[in-house]
Amino acid sequence: KLYNEVQDLKGNIRVYCRIRPFLPGQSEKQTTIEYMGENGEFVVANPLKQGKESHRLFKFNKVFGPAATQEEVFLDTQPLIRSVLDGYNVCIFAYGQTGSGKTYTMTGPNVSSREDWGVNYRALNDLFHISQSRKSSIKYEVGVQMVEIYNEQVRDLLSSDSSQKRLGIWNTAQPNGLVVPDASMHPVKSTADVLELMNIGLMNRAVGATALNERSSRSHSVLTVHVRGMDLETDAVLRGSLHLVDLAGSERVDRSEATGDRLREAQHINKSLSALGDVIFALAQKSPYVPYRNSKLTQVLQSSLGGQAKTLMFVQLNPDVDSYSETVSTLKFAERVS
Ligand code: ADP
Ligand code: MG
Repeated sequence: KLYNEVQDLKGNIRVYCRIRPFLPGQSEKQTTIEYMGENGEFVVANPLKQGKESHRLFKFNKVFGPAATQEEVFLDTQPLIRSVLDGYNVCIFAYGQTGSGKTYTMTGPNVSSREDWGVNYRALNDLFHISQSRKSSIKYEVGVQMVEIYNEQVRDLLSSDSSQKRLGIWNTAQPNGLVVPDASMHPVKSTADVLELMNIGLMNRAVGATALNERSSRSHSVLTVHVRGMDLETDAVLRGSLHLVDLAGSERVDRSEATGDRLREAQHINKSLSALGDVIFALAQKSPYVPYRNSKLTQVLQSSLGGQAKTLMFVQLNPDVDSYSETVSTLKFAERVS
């Protein structure tokens, strides 16, 4: 095993916090994140309180401040990602309110610039390159699937003809117990393949939506990378998978204002994010019962949550005072599962 450093994870769940910068035009804004220490510590200030009561210290495995680059974030994630080549199942997801930087972290703001690439592109590219260059008798194959979960329905984002087709989850049980939706599987043989597949996925995400941003903030997108390694000397086969998830926005929707479709969406999001929290909480507690069945999201991710699997949560924060209450609820979610 080359990547032992990832094995010291407590309960195999790791939490990285990323605080996004103020955007151009927001320079006047007041921040709620006041201090960022070493070792994943930072202080959140309550704008409505004074004195000692007003400040709270949080500590996670790591904290990335507003100046952190995509490269820095990726480098701290790379060992986990590479453990997929040793046969681990890994889940990396971004949690936070809409506008907190989930898509920035996972996909990146501008896919035509490599520097801007988020974790998804870098992970795929890295796994593809490493799997080709490792000097060993193991021959690797890399394949990807990409689905969207919206209102508890799973949709294939990489299939050209069936963009509206709903997928069942239990149809395909792979030999190592991986259960995946019967979404189309696409081999990756070059960096160009990586880019093409990601572009198709992002484009299909917009299909049927009135506004891309609106829809994408209310659905979960799951990119799954499957790695199959075959030892040419012994014929032994090793499989690992990586789930890369851009979750729906975690903001609470005002019940008095939301009606119809909007209310239904909000209820589905709420239900699936709570289900995810409950699963990770149960795993962190080493509970004998893990409630995977409560949402499509946790069903899709089951193989990469729990057991020998390794989980990394990016907790995304918007430092704006106006986001204070969402920041607190995001941090509560993170604390519960870490
Ligand atoms: P979300 O996906 O959580 O709704 P986005 O990733 O779309 O949020 O980010 C909201 C806005 O903030 C976008 O304009 C994005 O480019 C910007 N942004 C987010 N994180 C960063 C960052 N770390 N550095 C610079 N800009 C960022
Ligand atoms: Mg987004």
